[in-house]
Amino acid sequence: MKRTVPTLLTVGLLFLGVLGAQQLPPGQIRPRPAEGREPEFPQPKIRDYHPRSTLVVPEHPVPKARFPVIDFHHHPPQSMTVDDVNRVGDAMAGLNLGLMVNANSTPSARLKPAMDAIAASRYKGKMVMFTGLDLRNVGPGSGQKIAAQLDADVKAGALGVGEIMKSFGLTIKKADGTRLKIDDPELDPVWQTAARLKIPVFMHTADPSEFFQPLDFNNERWLELALYPDRRYQDRSRFPSFEELMAERDHLIARHPNVTWVLAHMGWHAQDLARLGKMFDANPNLYGELGAVLYDIGRQPRSAHDFFVKYQDRIIFGKDSYQPDEYPYYWRVFETNDEYFDYYRDYHAFWKMYGIGLPDAVLKKIYYANALRITPNLPRAGFPAN
Ligand SMILES: [Zn+2]
Repeated sequence: MKRTVPTLLTVGLLFLGVLGAQQLPPGQIRPRPAEGREPEFPQPKIRDYHPRSTLVVPEHPVPKARFPVIDFHHHPPQSMTVDDVNRVGDAMAGLNLGLMVNANSTPSARLKPAMDAIAASRYKGKMVMFTGLDLRNVGPGSGQKIAAQLDADVKAGALGVGEIMKSFGLTIKKADGTRLKIDDPELDPVWQTAARLKIPVFMHTADPSEFFQPLDFNNERWLELALYPDRRYQDRSRFPSFEELMAERDHLIARHPNVTWVLAHMGWHAQDLARLGKMFDANPNLYGELGAVLYDIGRQPRSAHDFFVKYQDRIIFGKDSYQPDEYPYYWRVFETNDEYFDYYRDYHAFWKMYGIGLPDAVLKKIYYANALRITPNLPRAGFPAN
Protein backbone atom coordinates (compact mmCIF):
# COMPACT_ATOMS: atom_id res chain seq x y z
CA MET A 1 0.00 0.00 0.00
CA LYS A 2 2.87 2.32 0.81
CA ARG A 3 3.91 2.39 -2.84
CA THR A 4 0.48 3.30 -4.21
CA VAL A 5 0.64 7.03 -3.71
CA PRO A 6 4.02 7.57 -5.36
CA THR A 7 3.01 5.24 -8.23
CA LEU A 8 -0.18 7.15 -8.82
CA LEU A 9 1.77 10.36 -8.69
CA THR A 10 4.27 9.05 -11.19
CA VAL A 11 1.54 7.91 -13.54
CA GLY A 12 -0.22 11.23 -13.13
CA LEU A 13 2.93 13.21 -13.86
CA LEU A 14 3.69 11.04 -16.88
CA PHE A 15 0.17 11.68 -18.15
CA LEU A 16 0.60 15.41 -17.68
CA GLY A 17 3.95 15.19 -19.42
CA VAL A 18 2.36 13.54 -22.46
CA LEU A 19 -0.34 16.23 -22.53
CA GLY A 20 2.32 18.91 -22.32
CA ALA A 21 4.19 17.44 -25.26
CA GLN A 22 1.10 17.56 -27.43
CA GLN A 23 1.15 20.16 -30.14
CA LEU A 24 -1.20 23.07 -29.85
CA PRO A 25 -3.74 23.45 -32.63
CA PRO A 26 -2.39 25.48 -35.56
CA GLY A 27 -2.70 29.21 -35.04
CA GLN A 28 -2.65 28.94 -31.24
CA ILE A 29 0.31 29.85 -29.12
CA ARG A 30 1.00 29.32 -25.45
CA PRO A 31 0.39 32.39 -23.33
CA ARG A 32 3.55 34.43 -23.05
CA PRO A 33 5.08 34.92 -20.55
CA ALA A 34 4.25 31.74 -18.67
CA GLU A 35 0.80 31.87 -17.17
CA GLY A 36 0.60 33.61 -13.84
CA ARG A 37 3.86 35.48 -14.38
CA GLU A 38 4.13 39.11 -15.28
CA PRO A 39 7.28 40.96 -16.33
CA GLU A 40 8.89 42.54 -13.30
CA PHE A 41 9.81 45.71 -15.24
CA PRO A 42 7.77 48.12 -17.35
CA GLN A 43 7.25 46.53 -20.77
CA PRO A 44 8.82 48.11 -23.84
CA LYS A 45 6.68 49.45 -26.65
CA ILE A 46 6.63 47.20 -29.71
CA ARG A 47 9.00 49.60 -31.52
CA ASP A 48 11.44 49.82 -28.62
CA TYR A 49 12.25 46.14 -28.28
CA HIS A 50 15.26 45.35 -30.47
CA PRO A 51 17.05 42.38 -28.93
CA ARG A 52 20.56 42.12 -30.32
CA SER A 53 21.41 38.80 -31.89
CA THR A 54 24.23 36.94 -30.19
CA LEU A 55 24.40 34.45 -33.03
CA VAL A 56 27.86 34.23 -34.54
CA VAL A 57 27.85 32.81 -38.06
CA PRO A 58 29.71 33.66 -41.26
CA GLU A 59 28.44 36.81 -42.97
CA HIS A 60 28.74 37.53 -46.67
CA PRO A 61 27.38 40.95 -47.56
CA VAL A 62 26.92 41.35 -51.33
CA PRO A 63 27.22 45.02 -52.30
CA LYS A 64 27.22 44.21 -56.02
CA ALA A 65 25.15 41.55 -57.75
CA ARG A 66 27.13 38.65 -59.24
CA PHE A 67 25.58 39.20 -62.68
CA PRO A 68 24.15 42.32 -64.30
CA VAL A 69 20.58 42.95 -63.28
CA ILE A 70 17.50 44.36 -64.96
CA ASP A 71 15.25 46.13 -62.48
CA PHE A 72 11.81 45.49 -63.95
CA HIS A 73 10.04 47.60 -61.34
CA HIS A 74 11.48 51.09 -61.13
CA HIS A 75 9.53 54.22 -60.19
CA PRO A 76 11.28 57.48 -61.02
CA PRO A 77 9.30 60.71 -60.62
CA GLN A 78 6.37 60.90 -63.03
CA SER A 79 7.79 63.98 -64.76
CA MET A 80 11.27 62.53 -65.10
CA THR A 81 14.07 64.97 -65.84
CA VAL A 82 17.59 64.41 -67.16
CA ASP A 83 18.83 64.95 -63.60
CA ASP A 84 16.49 62.22 -62.31
CA VAL A 85 17.88 59.75 -64.83
CA ASN A 86 21.47 60.73 -64.02
CA ARG A 87 20.91 60.39 -60.28
CA VAL A 88 19.58 56.84 -60.72
CA GLY A 89 22.24 55.97 -63.27
CA ASP A 90 25.07 57.11 -61.00
CA ALA A 91 24.28 54.37 -58.48
CA MET A 92 23.66 51.57 -61.00
CA ALA A 93 27.18 50.39 -61.80
CA GLY A 94 28.13 50.00 -58.14
CA LEU A 95 25.17 47.65 -57.63
CA ASN A 96 25.60 45.93 -61.02
CA LEU A 97 22.23 47.19 -62.22
CA GLY A 98 22.43 47.06 -66.00
CA LEU A 99 19.01 48.38 -66.99
CA MET A 100 16.07 50.08 -65.32
CA VAL A 101 12.51 49.63 -66.54
CA ASN A 102 10.51 52.75 -65.79
CA ALA A 103 7.43 50.81 -64.70
CA ASN A 104 5.38 53.90 -63.90
CA SER A 105 1.93 54.02 -65.34
CA THR A 106 3.17 56.86 -67.54
CA PRO A 107 0.44 58.84 -69.33
CA SER A 108 0.89 58.82 -73.10
CA ALA A 109 1.58 62.56 -73.22
CA ARG A 110 4.57 62.13 -70.92
CA LEU A 111 6.17 59.28 -72.83
CA LYS A 112 8.13 61.36 -75.29
CA PRO A 113 9.47 63.87 -72.71
CA ALA A 114 10.59 60.91 -70.58
CA MET A 115 12.33 59.19 -73.50
CA ASP A 116 13.97 62.50 -74.41
CA ALA A 117 15.23 62.82 -70.82
CA ILE A 118 16.76 59.34 -70.99
CA ALA A 119 18.34 60.08 -74.37
CA ALA A 120 19.84 63.34 -73.08
CA SER A 121 21.19 61.75 -69.89
CA ARG A 122 24.56 60.11 -69.30
CA TYR A 123 22.72 56.77 -69.17
CA LYS A 124 21.10 56.49 -72.57
CA GLY A 125 20.15 52.87 -73.14
CA LYS A 126 20.16 52.13 -69.41
CA MET A 127 16.51 52.97 -68.87
CA VAL A 128 13.41 52.06 -70.90
CA MET A 129 9.80 53.16 -70.72
CA PHE A 130 6.62 51.23 -70.17
CA THR A 131 3.35 53.03 -70.75
CA GLY A 132 0.25 53.51 -68.65
CA LEU A 133 -3.38 52.62 -69.29
CA ASP A 134 -6.00 55.20 -68.37
CA LEU A 135 -8.59 52.98 -66.73
CA ARG A 136 -10.74 55.72 -65.25
CA ASN A 137 -14.43 56.06 -66.16
CA VAL A 138 -14.56 52.98 -68.36
CA GLY A 139 -17.80 52.69 -70.32
CA PRO A 140 -18.98 51.32 -73.66
CA GLY A 141 -16.23 51.85 -76.25
CA SER A 142 -13.49 52.53 -73.68
CA GLY A 143 -11.73 49.25 -74.36
CA GLN A 144 -11.21 50.07 -78.06
CA LYS A 145 -10.04 53.57 -77.19
CA ILE A 146 -7.51 52.42 -74.59
CA ALA A 147 -6.32 49.67 -76.94
CA ALA A 148 -5.72 52.22 -79.72
CA GLN A 149 -3.75 54.39 -77.30
CA LEU A 150 -1.66 51.40 -76.24
CA ASP A 151 -0.92 50.63 -79.87
CA ALA A 152 0.21 54.22 -80.42
CA ASP A 153 2.34 54.27 -77.25
CA VAL A 154 4.17 51.12 -78.29
CA LYS A 155 4.78 52.58 -81.76
CA ALA A 156 6.18 55.63 -79.94
CA GLY A 157 8.70 53.46 -78.10
CA ALA A 158 7.05 52.05 -74.97
CA LEU A 159 8.19 48.46 -74.43
CA GLY A 160 5.41 47.22 -72.18
CA VAL A 161 2.39 48.11 -70.09
CA GLY A 162 3.71 49.71 -66.93
CA GLU A 163 2.46 48.92 -63.53
CA ILE A 164 -1.30 48.73 -63.47
CA MET A 165 -1.72 49.87 -59.91
CA LYS A 166 -3.69 48.25 -57.13
CA SER A 167 -6.43 50.85 -57.58
CA PHE A 168 -7.50 48.66 -60.55
CA GLY A 169 -10.03 46.41 -58.86
CA LEU A 170 -9.74 48.06 -55.49
CA THR A 171 -11.08 51.57 -56.03
CA ILE A 172 -11.31 52.66 -59.70
CA LYS A 173 -14.91 53.31 -60.74
CA LYS A 174 -16.58 52.89 -64.09
CA ALA A 175 -18.43 55.72 -65.79
CA ASP A 176 -21.66 54.32 -64.33
CA GLY A 177 -20.26 54.60 -60.80
CA THR A 178 -19.77 50.89 -60.17
CA ARG A 179 -16.40 49.34 -59.31
CA LEU A 180 -14.30 48.46 -62.36
CA LYS A 181 -13.74 44.74 -61.97
CA ILE A 182 -10.36 43.42 -63.03
CA ASP A 183 -11.96 40.99 -65.48
CA ASP A 184 -14.42 43.50 -66.96
CA PRO A 185 -14.95 42.33 -70.58
CA GLU A 186 -15.00 45.94 -71.80
CA LEU A 187 -11.22 45.88 -71.45
CA ASP A 188 -10.73 42.75 -73.58
CA PRO A 189 -9.52 44.74 -76.64
CA VAL A 190 -6.73 46.17 -74.48
CA TRP A 191 -5.44 42.74 -73.49
CA GLN A 192 -5.86 41.44 -77.04
CA THR A 193 -3.72 44.32 -78.24
CA ALA A 194 -1.04 43.58 -75.66
CA ALA A 195 -1.03 39.95 -76.82
CA ARG A 196 -0.75 40.95 -80.48
CA LEU A 197 2.12 43.34 -79.70
CA LYS A 198 3.77 40.61 -77.57
CA ILE A 199 4.52 43.12 -74.81
CA PRO A 200 4.47 42.29 -71.10
CA VAL A 201 1.61 43.58 -68.96
CA PHE A 202 2.86 44.40 -65.48
CA MET A 203 0.04 44.32 -62.97
CA HIS A 204 -0.22 44.94 -59.24
CA THR A 205 -3.40 43.53 -57.73
CA ALA A 206 -4.56 44.05 -54.15
CA ASP A 207 -1.89 44.19 -51.44
CA PRO A 208 -0.63 41.73 -48.80
CA SER A 209 -3.56 39.61 -47.67
CA GLU A 210 -3.14 40.75 -44.07
CA PHE A 211 -4.08 44.28 -45.16
CA PHE A 212 -7.58 42.90 -45.73
CA GLN A 213 -7.77 40.96 -42.45
CA PRO A 214 -8.96 42.23 -39.05
CA LEU A 215 -6.49 44.62 -37.48
CA ASP A 216 -5.93 42.64 -34.29
CA PHE A 217 -2.78 41.60 -32.44
CA ASN A 218 -2.58 38.38 -34.46
CA ASN A 219 -2.25 40.32 -37.70
CA GLU A 220 1.26 39.77 -39.06
CA ARG A 221 1.31 43.32 -40.44
CA TRP A 222 -0.21 45.05 -37.41
CA LEU A 223 2.60 47.56 -37.05
CA GLU A 224 2.59 48.54 -40.72
CA LEU A 225 -1.19 48.87 -40.70
CA ALA A 226 -1.07 50.93 -37.52
CA LEU A 227 1.48 53.24 -39.15
CA TYR A 228 -0.18 53.61 -42.56
CA PRO A 229 -3.95 54.27 -42.64
CA ASP A 230 -4.05 54.05 -46.45
CA ARG A 231 -3.05 50.37 -46.34
CA ARG A 232 -6.14 49.28 -44.43
CA TYR A 233 -8.73 47.48 -46.55
CA GLN A 234 -10.78 45.89 -43.81
CA ASP A 235 -13.96 47.85 -44.60
CA ARG A 236 -16.02 45.56 -46.87
CA SER A 237 -18.44 48.39 -47.62
CA ARG A 238 -15.56 50.22 -49.35
CA PHE A 239 -13.24 47.47 -50.58
CA PRO A 240 -13.65 44.00 -52.06
CA SER A 241 -12.00 41.17 -50.17
CA PHE A 242 -8.52 39.92 -51.04
CA GLU A 243 -9.92 36.69 -52.46
CA GLU A 244 -12.49 38.53 -54.57
CA LEU A 245 -9.69 40.49 -56.21
CA MET A 246 -7.58 37.36 -56.69
CA ALA A 247 -10.53 35.58 -58.30
CA GLU A 248 -11.07 38.44 -60.77
CA ARG A 249 -7.34 38.59 -61.55
CA ASP A 250 -7.06 34.84 -62.06
CA HIS A 251 -10.13 34.86 -64.29
CA LEU A 252 -8.63 37.64 -66.42
CA ILE A 253 -5.34 35.77 -66.80
CA ALA A 254 -7.07 32.53 -67.72
CA ARG A 255 -9.21 34.32 -70.31
CA HIS A 256 -6.16 35.87 -71.98
CA PRO A 257 -3.58 33.10 -72.23
CA ASN A 258 -1.68 34.89 -75.00
CA VAL A 259 -0.86 37.91 -72.88
CA THR A 260 2.53 37.95 -71.14
CA TRP A 261 1.34 38.69 -67.61
CA VAL A 262 3.83 39.80 -64.99
CA LEU A 263 2.43 39.87 -61.48
CA ALA A 264 4.03 42.61 -59.41
CA HIS A 265 5.13 41.52 -55.94
CA MET A 266 4.78 37.83 -56.89
CA GLY A 267 1.03 38.40 -56.94
CA TRP A 268 1.23 38.81 -53.14
CA HIS A 269 1.67 35.06 -52.85
CA ALA A 270 5.32 35.01 -51.82
CA GLN A 271 4.23 33.71 -48.42
CA ASP A 272 2.27 30.92 -50.13
CA LEU A 273 4.54 29.75 -52.92
CA ALA A 274 2.55 26.59 -53.55
CA ARG A 275 -0.40 28.76 -54.57
CA LEU A 276 1.79 30.75 -56.95
CA GLY A 277 3.26 27.51 -58.30
CA LYS A 278 -0.21 26.25 -59.18
CA MET A 279 -0.84 29.49 -61.06
CA PHE A 280 2.44 29.13 -62.94
CA ASP A 281 1.51 25.53 -63.81
CA ALA A 282 -1.90 26.56 -65.11
CA ASN A 283 -0.74 29.66 -67.02
CA PRO A 284 2.42 29.24 -69.11
CA ASN A 285 2.47 32.98 -69.91
CA LEU A 286 2.49 34.09 -66.28
CA TYR A 287 5.50 35.59 -64.48
CA GLY A 288 6.15 36.86 -60.98
CA GLU A 289 8.14 39.96 -60.09
CA LEU A 290 10.04 40.17 -56.82
CA GLY A 291 9.52 43.78 -55.69
CA ALA A 292 9.01 44.42 -51.99
CA VAL A 293 8.45 40.80 -50.97
CA LEU A 294 12.02 39.92 -50.00
CA TYR A 295 10.93 39.46 -46.38
CA ASP A 296 8.76 36.55 -47.47
CA ILE A 297 11.46 34.94 -49.61
CA GLY A 298 14.11 35.32 -46.91
CA ARG A 299 12.08 33.71 -44.15
CA GLN A 300 11.66 30.40 -46.00
CA PRO A 301 15.10 29.68 -47.46
CA ARG A 302 14.53 26.01 -48.25
CA SER A 303 11.06 26.38 -49.76
CA ALA A 304 12.09 29.51 -51.66
CA HIS A 305 15.26 27.89 -53.00
CA ASP A 306 13.31 24.93 -54.34
CA PHE A 307 10.60 27.18 -55.77
CA PHE A 308 13.11 29.43 -57.53
CA VAL A 309 14.86 26.41 -59.02
CA LYS A 310 11.60 24.84 -60.17
CA TYR A 311 10.18 28.07 -61.59
CA GLN A 312 13.48 29.65 -62.66
CA ASP A 313 12.00 30.68 -66.03
CA ARG A 314 9.08 32.53 -64.42
CA ILE A 315 10.63 34.86 -61.85
CA ILE A 316 11.82 38.37 -62.65
CA PHE A 317 13.81 40.75 -60.50
CA GLY A 318 12.27 44.10 -59.59
CA LYS A 319 12.79 46.35 -56.61
CA ASP A 320 9.94 48.91 -56.55
CA SER A 321 11.06 51.92 -54.48
CA TYR A 322 14.52 53.10 -55.52
CA GLN A 323 16.82 53.06 -52.51
CA PRO A 324 20.31 52.10 -53.69
CA ASP A 325 21.32 50.89 -50.23
CA GLU A 326 18.49 48.33 -50.18
CA TYR A 327 19.50 46.32 -53.25
CA PRO A 328 22.37 44.52 -51.47
CA TYR A 329 19.82 42.85 -49.19
CA TYR A 330 18.31 41.25 -52.29
CA TRP A 331 21.68 40.11 -53.60
CA ARG A 332 22.51 38.60 -50.22
CA VAL A 333 19.25 36.67 -49.98
CA PHE A 334 19.54 35.35 -53.55
CA GLU A 335 23.28 34.65 -53.67
CA THR A 336 24.35 33.48 -50.20
CA ASN A 337 23.42 30.92 -47.58
CA ASP A 338 23.83 33.46 -44.79
CA GLU A 339 21.64 33.00 -41.75
CA TYR A 340 19.48 35.18 -39.56
CA PHE A 341 20.14 38.67 -40.84
CA ASP A 342 18.02 41.79 -40.83
CA TYR A 343 15.51 42.96 -43.38
CA TYR A 344 15.74 46.67 -44.12
CA ARG A 345 12.40 47.91 -42.85
CA ASP A 346 11.21 47.00 -39.41
CA TYR A 347 7.56 47.73 -40.14
CA HIS A 348 7.38 45.30 -43.07
CA ALA A 349 8.93 42.41 -41.25
CA PHE A 350 10.15 42.07 -37.70
CA TRP A 351 11.71 38.68 -38.42
CA LYS A 352 15.14 37.80 -39.76
CA MET A 353 16.11 36.53 -43.18
CA TYR A 354 18.22 33.75 -44.62
CA GLY A 355 20.02 33.39 -47.90
CA ILE A 356 18.53 30.98 -50.44
CA GLY A 357 21.83 30.29 -52.22
CA LEU A 358 20.66 30.17 -55.83
CA PRO A 359 22.86 28.52 -58.48
CA ASP A 360 24.42 30.85 -61.05
CA ALA A 361 22.19 29.58 -63.86
CA VAL A 362 19.07 30.51 -61.88
CA LEU A 363 20.49 33.87 -60.81
CA LYS A 364 21.14 34.82 -64.43
CA LYS A 365 17.55 34.03 -65.36
CA ILE A 366 15.90 36.00 -62.58
CA TYR A 367 18.41 38.87 -62.82
CA TYR A 368 18.15 39.50 -66.57
CA ALA A 369 17.51 36.59 -68.94
CA ASN A 370 13.80 36.17 -68.22
CA ALA A 371 13.13 39.90 -68.60
CA LEU A 372 15.04 39.94 -71.89
CA ARG A 373 13.10 36.93 -73.15
CA ILE A 374 9.60 38.27 -72.43
CA THR A 375 10.21 41.92 -73.40
CA PRO A 376 10.93 42.46 -77.09
CA ASN A 377 13.38 45.27 -77.82
CA LEU A 378 14.95 45.57 -74.38
CA PRO A 379 18.55 46.72 -74.91
CA ARG A 380 20.81 43.67 -74.60
CA ALA A 381 24.13 45.46 -74.34
CA GLY A 382 26.03 44.47 -71.23
CA PHE A 383 24.16 41.23 -70.57
CA PRO A 384 25.91 37.91 -71.12
CA ALA A 385 24.64 36.09 -74.21
CA ASN A 386 24.10 32.74 -72.46
ZN1 LIG B 1 5.31 49.59 -58.25
